[in-house]
Amino acid sequence: MARRAEREAVVTRADEMVLEAVRDATAASRAVRIIGGGGWAEAHAAITPDAIALPTRATAGIRAYEPDDLTITVGAGTTLAELDAATHPHRQFCPLAPPGTDDATIGAVLATGIAGPTAATWGRPRDLTLGVTVIDGHAREIRAGGRVVKNVAGFDLTRLTVGAFGTLGVIVEASLRLRALPAVDESWLLTDADAAAFASWRRGPYAPVASAALDEGTLVRIAGNATFVAAARAALRACGTITSVDPRRWHALRASHPRALPPLAWSPLAARVKTAFDPAHTLNRGLVPR
Ligand SMILES: Cc1cc2nc3c(=O)[nH]c(=O)nc-3n(C[C@H](O)[C@H](O)[C@H](O)COP(=O)(O)OP(=O)(O)OC[C@H]3O[C@@H](n4cnc5c(N)ncnc54)[C@H](O)[C@@H]3O)c2cc1C
Repeated sequence: MARRAEREAVVTRADEMVLEAVRDATAASRAVRIIGGGGWAEAHAAITPDAIALPTRATAGIRAYEPDDLTITVGAGTTLAELDAATHPHRQFCPLAPPGTDDATIGAVLATGIAGPTAATWGRPRDLTLGVTVIDGHAREIRAGGRVVKNVAGFDLTRLTVGAFGTLGVIVEASLRLRALPAVDESWLLTDADAAAFASWRRGPYAPVASAALDEGTLVRIAGNATFVAAARAALRACGTITSVDPRRWHALRASHPRALPPLAWSPLAARVKTAFDPAHTLNRGLVPR
């Protein structure tokens, strides 16, 4: 009990430090540059150069984990690798697999909002996020959504925050949906494929959890129970030549080429939302028009 209270005090202090940094910057008419792992330089390039660095890694940690509910709440500075380390012993995982490496922080993965190759089957970051706690540009701590799947009440700041690149709030905590690890998880390289047969296989009952076109063929991932995977593999084999591939190939693919920051979607409505949460453009100034 004492250890839990001690840990919560540390957690609260880390979040408070973020809040104080935003409050101080706003009072001094300065901007802050929010940093997770600091691994994706392209996402920082457009931010005003005189912005004060605001690291969020100190918020890291598992704050609540309910394996029976398949939900977890983590500090935003927690990395994907740390999330896996906490959930894998329970044969669970969170299917976030964005470009980059597993050193990426959850705050950054949600802020950039980009989906990985399993998104169509296992959900995009927005679908996997149950709730967030953010510090907005007024230095207010706002909790949105909830820690559990059944809590759906309240204003959906969660969905606004995911993909906002930190321009509406600094994410300090997030509650995420988890999935059970599949019993069997196989990766295959398909070559000499009959295109029509493969297209039909992908649309059918054996749809893969992910596929990616490579120079040498198509990388395919099938996962589920042993019976399903055996049937899916047999049907895939009928589409061409299949060769077993090390699943780490998906990690290599994610890390392979640095991608440029796309122009952020902007509209009169987005401008009004920005005004409500960060009128002085304290947060990641330069990423959206003033
Ligand atoms: C189109 C696209 C392409 C990408 N390509 C790559 C790639 O090639 N390599 C790669 O490493 N990553 C890439 N990413 C980002 C990647 O998906 C992860 O988000 C990133 O790797 C996270 O790593 P990080 O913690 O080092 O983030 P950082 O580099 O620290 O931050 C990334 C962005 O998120 C913001 N941010 C960080 N933490 C928070 C927070 N707590 N609250 C609010 N905002 C926050 C930062 O201000 C910055 O804009 C891409 C993202 C997109 C959308």
